[in-house]
Amino acid sequence: MANDKTLTIKKPFDSHLHLRRGAVLRAVTPYSTKRFGRAIIMPNTEPPIETVEQATEYKKEILAAVNHPSVLQNTRIDEAAFEPLMTFYLTKNLTPAEIERGFSSSECKIFAVKSYPYGATTNSQWGYRNILEAKDVLKKMEEVGMPLLLHGEVHLNERDEEEDPYDGEAMFVKDTLPRLLDMYPKLKISLEHMSSHEAIDFMEKNGKDGKLMTTVTPHHLMYDRRHAFSGGYRALLHCKPLVKKREDRERLRDMVKKGLPFVSAGTDSAPHPENKKFSSCCAFGVFNSPVALEMYVQVFDELGSLDKLEGFLSVNGPRFFGFEPDANTLTLVKKDWQVTEPVVTDEGVNLWPVGHVKHGLGNETFHWQISN
Ligand SMILES: [Zn+2]
Repeated sequence: MANDKTLTIKKPFDSHLHLRRGAVLRAVTPYSTKRFGRAIIMPNTEPPIETVEQATEYKKEILAAVNHPSVLQNTRIDEAAFEPLMTFYLTKNLTPAEIERGFSSSECKIFAVKSYPYGATTNSQWGYRNILEAKDVLKKMEEVGMPLLLHGEVHLNERDEEEDPYDGEAMFVKDTLPRLLDMYPKLKISLEHMSSHEAIDFMEKNGKDGKLMTTVTPHHLMYDRRHAFSGGYRALLHCKPLVKKREDRERLRDMVKKGLPFVSAGTDSAPHPENKKFSSCCAFGVFNSPVALEMYVQVFDELGSLDKLEGFLSVNGPRFFGFEPDANTLTLVKKDWQVTEPVVTDEGVNLWPVGHVKHGLGNETFHWQISN
């Protein structure tokens, strides 16, 4: 339901979220739970999540942070109104038996397995060099019906040389993904955070509701590499996959505008302490929880496609993972605002959200906000 000032939708589903651990987790979690009813929680913590016991402990830590006193002001989220959906990291230690245990666990069901190519992004050192090596685990996932979530980039070639980071996703969809689809025809797969026209071409041709889906971040929809290099390199936009050319971003916006049933919101919010983000070798990851939902709405508004927003945010993601859409709703208001403050952890560390007036591109204004 929309008029030109407010918009009410079923509470969104975040198909891709990094909450980290400890003080960072406590600081960022309420920003997500205020905006999303459920989220697929990424497992690239240190150590990685690769057993049911680790996932159970991690889930408890997240639930304890749901109402952490922060910027929530007077709103409190009913703990039952946010569900973290736990995943395993596809490390070499992950076994088919653990997939089976995770799939049938009543205490902490595991909803998916995430694959990171070795060396590509934050804590990706435990991943396989080539996902096709993980045969037994993939076979078991296909058998039980557990989805595989792909960080779909080729990072290193067979001689261990780094590939051009702007080409990694195109290489993955050209070679690895078709082979994976051939070898495991029943495996449910999601190609995460699409960024390149090559990946968009592939998904528009091969995407299939309930079988092969894809997620899109707000920053890949809103920014391209002109922004990343505007007035110097913009650390807050440094992420994998890298933001690409204007043409790639335009293709991504055209794709979400179509309202395809296999395309879902996945914020990929990935906070880092400021000393890691603003270091000489800046950490990969865009922290967008305080503004992600607002950015998505703004993009769909700019595209004249607000009628497609609810499917993208609140329906397609849950359907892929076997859920009904959220029973709660959320209302947004069209009203300009700016991100003027960092998120500060209880240990006093700053986490800078994308679009911040100081470290963003300078004076960015967002046009939608959540109605309290
Ligand atoms: Zn991610």
